[in-house]
Amino acid sequence: MAINIDIPDVGTRESRLGSITGYNGDLHDLVNKSQCGGLKNRDRCFSQSSSCNAGCALGQLSGIRDIAIINHAPSGCSAIAPDVNVANAQLSAKRGVTNSTVFIGTDMNEKDTVFGATKSLRDIVIETYKRYKPKAVFIGTSCVTGIIGEDVDSVVEELKKELPIPIAAVHCEGFRSRIWASGFDECDHAVLSTIVKPAKTKRNVINFKNFFESAREEIIDIFKNFDVEPFFLYQNSTVEELSRLSESLATVCICGTLGTYLGNGLEEKFGVPYVRTINPLGIAGFETWLREIGNVINKGTEVEDYIAREREIYIPQIDAIKKELKGLRAVLGMGPGYTFEVSRVLQELGVEVVWAAAWHYDKKYDNGKVPPALDYLLENSPNNFKLSIADQQNFEILNILNKYKPDIYFSRHPGTTVWAIKQGIPALFVADEYMIFGYKGTLSFARTLLDTLKNRSFEKNLAARSKLPYTDWWYKQENGKFLREERK
Ligand code: SF4
Repeated sequence: MAINIDIPDVGTRESRLGSITGYNGDLHDLVNKSQCGGLKNRDRCFSQSSSCNAGCALGQLSGIRDIAIINHAPSGCSAIAPDVNVANAQLSAKRGVTNSTVFIGTDMNEKDTVFGATKSLRDIVIETYKRYKPKAVFIGTSCVTGIIGEDVDSVVEELKKELPIPIAAVHCEGFRSRIWASGFDECDHAVLSTIVKPAKTKRNVINFKNFFESAREEIIDIFKNFDVEPFFLYQNSTVEELSRLSESLATVCICGTLGTYLGNGLEEKFGVPYVRTINPLGIAGFETWLREIGNVINKGTEVEDYIAREREIYIPQIDAIKKELKGLRAVLGMGPGYTFEVSRVLQELGVEVVWAAAWHYDKKYDNGKVPPALDYLLENSPNNFKLSIADQQNFEILNILNKYKPDIYFSRHPGTTVWAIKQGIPALFVADEYMIFGYKGTLSFARTLLDTLKNRSFEKNLAARSKLPYTDWWYKQENGKFLREERK
C-alpha cells in the first residue's frame, strides 16, 4: 500500500501489513501462508496483558532533543514520562549533548471525558510553548480521546497558524492496535509529514534508524571506510537534523520492525534508497547488509576490502567457540525484528532452534514483501522449527520451556527472561540492540552464550527457591490451547 503523508494518521499494522498476534505452527507454514496471502490471525479466549502502542510512538519521539510531547490522556497513560526523562538525561550526557525535551500529560478527568477538553489542550500547548520554547510539539492521543471523538487534528491545524514551530498529532490510541510496533509507524508518520523537508542537496550521510545508538562510535569508524557518516535517529537527534533526512544517500535500520515505515516512506516520498536486507546481526546478516550498502552508495570494492580484513581477525575466533556450542538447543521469545534474525545467528553458531516465539508478526513490510529474515530462514534453516506468535503471553512461553527443556532461552524483554530462570532454564537477555552487531558483536555474543551455559548454579538455586503460579494441569496442555480457530 502506498504511503500517504498528507493525511494526519497512519493505518495500524493489522490493517496495513496484515500483522497478527496469534499463531501456532512452524517456519515453513508461516512463510508459505505469508507469501500466498493465506495467513490469518487467531484470537485468544484468554490472554495476559500486553503493551500500548503509545509507549512506542511517544517513547521514540521523546528521544528527539528540545521538543515537547503533550500526551492528551488521563494521568496513568503518561506513566512513561519518568522513564523518558531518565533515559534522555543519561543518553544525552553519554553523547556530551543536552536534551531539554519535556513530556507533559493533559491529565484528563471525568469531566473532560464527558464534555471534551480541546480548549484545555490548546491552552496547555500554548503555555508549553511560552515556558519551554520547544523546537516542535507532538500531541499524543489516547483511548479516552479516541472513545469520545476528541478532534485533536482541528486543534493542531489551528495551532499551526499561531505557533512558529512544527506541530503534529500522533494518533496512538491504545485500543487501535494490539501491536505496539504500530507506535513506531505513528512516530515516523508524524516526522515524515511534519518535519522532513524536500532535499536541496545530497550529503555523504546514511540515516541509521535505531533505538539508543550504543554502537555509535563503532559504526562511525566502520562507515569511515566507505567515506560516509551515519546519522542516528531518534535518540539525541534534533529537529533541524531530521528535517534533512531527505538529503542522505540511503536509510538503514538495526531492526526491520522498527524501520519499515520510515525507510519505505523516505524512499517513496523523498527518493532516499532503503536498504532492505536481513539485519546486520551475525556473519551472514552483517555481510549481506554491508554489501547492499556498498551497492547503493557505489562503494562495493571498499566494502569487499573491509570484509576481507575483518574476516581474518574474527572468523577463526568465532569458529573456535562454535565447536563448544554445537548441538545446544534454544527457545527464543522476542519482537519479530529480532526473533528471526537471532534464530539465524544461533544456527550460524551451531545452536539448534527448537521453538521461536515472536511478539507479533508482520506478514509483509511496507514494500509489500515478506520480511527478508523469513525468506532467508525458509531457504537456509537446517530444520523446520516450531513457531508461535504471542504478544508477550508468558504463560505460553513457560509451557513451551517446560515441554522442550532447552539448554537456553533468549529474550529481549526482562519480564519474560526472569520467568525462564525461575523455571531453572538459563536465559540470556538480549537487551542491547547492538549485542550481536557485526563480527565483533557476534564473537562477544558467542562468548556470553558460553559463559551463561557453563555455570548454571544461579538458575538451579533460584528455581529451587521459587514457586511459580503455573500448575501441572497447565503444563500438560498445549501452549496454544487458548487460541481460537482462524476467522474465515
Ligand atoms: S492509551 Fe489506552 S492502552 Fe494506552 S496507556 Fe492509555 S488507557 Fe492504556
